[in-house]
Amino acid sequence: MDFRFSEAEQQMDDAFRAFCDAEILPHSIEVDQAGGFPHANYKKLADFGYLGLAHEERWGGTNVGTVEGLIAQDHLCRACPSTFLSAGASMGLFGGPVRSFASEEMQGEILPGIVKGELIGAWALTEPHCGSDAVAMKTTAQRTDRGWVLNGSKMFITNGGSADWILVMAKTNPEAKHAGVSNFLVKKGTPGLSASKPLSKMGMRGSETVALYFEDCEIPHEWLVGEEGYGFVQAMKTLENGRLGMAAFGVGIAQAALDEALKYTKQREAFGKPIIKFQPVHFKLADMKVLVDGARTLMYRAAWLHEQGRCSQAQYSAAKLFATEAAVKCTDLAVQVHGGYGYMSEYRIEHLYRDARLGPIGEGTSEIQRRLIAQETQALFS
Ligand SMILES: Cc1cc2nc3c(=O)[nH]c(=O)nc-3n(C[C@H](O)[C@H](O)[C@H](O)COP(=O)(O)OP(=O)(O)OC[C@H]3O[C@@H](n4cnc5c(N)ncnc54)[C@H](O)[C@@H]3O)c2cc1C
Repeated sequence: MDFRFSEAEQQMDDAFRAFCDAEILPHSIEVDQAGGFPHANYKKLADFGYLGLAHEERWGGTNVGTVEGLIAQDHLCRACPSTFLSAGASMGLFGGPVRSFASEEMQGEILPGIVKGELIGAWALTEPHCGSDAVAMKTTAQRTDRGWVLNGSKMFITNGGSADWILVMAKTNPEAKHAGVSNFLVKKGTPGLSASKPLSKMGMRGSETVALYFEDCEIPHEWLVGEEGYGFVQAMKTLENGRLGMAAFGVGIAQAALDEALKYTKQREAFGKPIIKFQPVHFKLADMKVLVDGARTLMYRAAWLHEQGRCSQAQYSAAKLFATEAAVKCTDLAVQVHGGYGYMSEYRIEHLYRDARLGPIGEGTSEIQRRLIAQETQALFS
């Protein structure tokens, strides 16, 4: 067993650490307070090559391995969770299925723009009445002579208002349940597509979240992604990578919380000495360190198995579950060691604490991950 990074992975680690520390981290409070899509950071990420990491060379990407990609995601999330979410929804949740399932023509039309940061993508699965139970979706796509007509609405869509293209899941055969769902590309400005104002939310305020509405929204045949009826299968594949990304979300925030706690407890004094000298503070830092290391280990194990095509659902889920819950615990502990300053918006830990809370909810709640882990574990012993 060898836990060291390869040479390429180490280079990625060094390069992204330096880039994120210099270009992204110093603006993270500003991004949280400004709200909306983080355009300036998106451009910086494009220029540094981040948006092309998971895309092929022919579209301008670098197509790096899963572990390398996660190293970059870990650093980006540590530096600014909102930027991580906005970029991830565009290059990953949207760009991933376009890369894997869309036609050559649509890939050629969309992916170079995503890699260069000239286009923004969004992925729309969740609806106002259902998220975990995705098959209960009500949005429909009806075939016509000219293409498809979409009707319905979507909820909590990251980048939804700014996106140039949206990947929309819709029922093409409501009776067929899982096999009746298909994926469609919908371009900004298509008549019948509209977005709500940005939704006001607890955290991740530097990313944009909206509801989307489709009213007799007519699109051409070419915007169907892959085969009709395979939308659910495509979404499950997308969510495998998404869960690794959410594990990086957890690891990055947990690490940021530990970094902030260490910095603060070394310089804050009480009773004549830095508070890091008090054992109860010390122990909190130790607990955080173990959570960060545990989360990172599960994430890289899943990524390593993924690269070999043998990561099971439970292993993706374990990484996502542990890392996102670790981030909630670490940010809570880090707020505590900051005392009253931890409650103040000018301290980074205040927004990290709010941001972390998305982890156990987004892209499959903790309960859904536990269900998947329990199902696979039960199967092993039955
Ligand atoms: C900031 C933000 C950004 C988002 N971005 C996107 C996006 O870009 N695209 C997109 O499609 N969605 C997005 N989402 C939606 C997100 O993925 C869903 O909120 C999430 O999947 C949960 O779905 P839900 O909100 O409908 O909750 P529900 O499914 O209604 O769940 C409510 C509660 O019931 C529990 N529950 C449900 N079913 C079960 C079960 N079988 N067993 C045990 N417990 C269960 C859940 O775990 C949860 O605790 C985003 C959400 C947020 C908050």
